[in-house]
Amino acid sequence: MASDPILIVGGGLGGLTAALALARRGRTVRVLEGAAEFGAIGYGIQFGPNVFHVFDRLGISEQVMAVADAPPAVLMLDALSGKELVRIPTGGTSFRARFKHPYIIVHRIDIHNVLLDACRMSDAIELVADAMVTGFEDRGDGVAVATADGRTFSGAALVAADGVRSLFRDKLIGDGEPRPIGYVALRTIVPIAELKADVPRDCVVLWSGPGLHIVHYPLRHGTEFNIVNVYRTAAHAERLDGAGARAELDQAYRNTHPAMRELVAMMDLRWRRSIGDRDPIRPWHKGRIVLLGDAAHAPLQSLAQGAGMAIEDGLCLAESIHLSDGDFAAAFRQFQAARLLRTARVQLESRSLWEFYHLDDGIARDVRNATVAQWDEAYLFNCLAWLYDGAPIPG
Ligand SMILES: Cc1cc2nc3c(=O)[nH]c(=O)nc-3n(C[C@H](O)[C@H](O)[C@H](O)COP(=O)(O)OP(=O)(O)OC[C@H]3O[C@@H](n4cnc5c(N)ncnc54)[C@H](O)[C@@H]3O)c2cc1C
Repeated sequence: MASDPILIVGGGLGGLTAALALARRGRTVRVLEGAAEFGAIGYGIQFGPNVFHVFDRLGISEQVMAVADAPPAVLMLDALSGKELVRIPTGGTSFRARFKHPYIIVHRIDIHNVLLDACRMSDAIELVADAMVTGFEDRGDGVAVATADGRTFSGAALVAADGVRSLFRDKLIGDGEPRPIGYVALRTIVPIAELKADVPRDCVVLWSGPGLHIVHYPLRHGTEFNIVNVYRTAAHAERLDGAGARAELDQAYRNTHPAMRELVAMMDLRWRRSIGDRDPIRPWHKGRIVLLGDAAHAPLQSLAQGAGMAIEDGLCLAESIHLSDGDFAAAFRQFQAARLLRTARVQLESRSLWEFYHLDDGIARDVRNATVAQWDEAYLFNCLAWLYDGAPIPG
């Protein structure tokens, strides 16, 4: 029934974008979120100009810009020598002239709240927290789900925006858990006043080293500082206590630039996660159920585009549903056709970039450094155009 709500499982950035975009097209939506409250874990996130094609259409670009910052540049530095290898001048007039929109860094909680506030202002969206979906049924003319606490919800169709360990992907595709790649990530936010390390404070910086990297950038208009450490470790699958994690971290970064070791000393050791990778797959849909965002195509974080792709998906799916006049199979086919190659390219290029960042000390690394030294602004902008120019969206 066209009047039945569309169920969205997962209230992350992908699920909320889909909800808002569907509501803007007059569809009623029920978003089921497993966590006790709608919200995000508190770390930084970067977005290319491509997401503004979506934010403009949803009318939230101004609200996003109020909580975001546009860094003057994205830098790649050598983790051993400290030398600058690549500079993408994201804050300059040439970047804005080429891509029309800014590159931004923002606290994930703040951007999540922009979407959440917009959803809350819509009568067409019902947000249901503490609703961990544990089972589902496609009844042909509709869908039904059951939650861990025994509630059931039904709807006309279901959007599975339930993240990289998606229940729906597991049941519909069954390709198992993300494949561990032997690396772990640690994330920390500190008040910028506590930052002692001599590092650029206004840019996005990626320090690239053998089997490791660090990414850092400021948040909340320069008051906070976000640091992500990633490194290869034989113990990636193990849980380590604080002392074990500290010893592992110090060992991994022992040969890196002194400024990096100062950053490493600031890390919060509680959030230590093994990193997994997924292959591109198809199809993303079956009957009245469709996967979206990380559930369909989670990439490694090397291009910083996983959430950007989930946001693009949200609008594209809503427009496909709007145009299909109640034919969900046709809508899901159109959505997948519009999104598959772009998101698969993000997954595959993220994987290549991962290798590129982490080359061991040796000839290949020297070749890389000599090659990137020749990349000028025009070359870099051309390389990024397929991504930052955004993607065609139906409607
Ligand atoms: C270290 C790191 C850094 C990153 N940096 C960037 C970056 O700078 N830029 C970028 O674009 N991307 C980045 N990403 C990727 C980004 O975090 C993800 O791609 C993005 O969060 C995917 O959004 P999503 O809405 O698909 O899924 P998620 O954000 O994972 O949301 C899924 C939601 O579903 C809920 N859920 C799960 N299962 C159920 C269930 N059974 N029932 C109900 N609810 C359920 C979860 O609680 C969650 O709220 C990074 C990732 C990592 C790990």
